[in-house]
Amino acid sequence: MAAITDNGSKREDIVIQQAPDSFDAVQLNTERDLTIALLNHETLQLRNLRGALGRVEDGSYGICVQCEEEISPKRLKAVPWAMLCLKCQEEADRKQAEGLSDDEDDDQ
Ligand SMILES: [Zn+2]
Repeated sequence: MAAITDNGSKREDIVIQQAPDSFDAVQLNTERDLTIALLNHETLQLRNLRGALGRVEDGSYGICVQCEEEISPKRLKAVPWAMLCLKCQEEADRKQAEGLSDDEDDDQ
């Protein structure tokens, strides 16, 4: 449900990114098309990636959002947008399995 409204606002964001230079415009168009395609097909994953990019920008990438310990490079290689270290992720998975979070339907 949240994903649908999310989609709408992101699409608006994309449309207002107009560059005066035509070269940039072409590139932006391509990026926009790509982004919309991604939004349509892999909204959740894109959201994860955007979140990861945001964390790269503010310098918190690779740090577990729960316990603030470093996420192992091996895990980041497997799941580049991981927000939780393995320990916290396992805990989160367990909670999810217990039905505390019924909203997100990960690939089961
Ligand atoms: Zn952790």
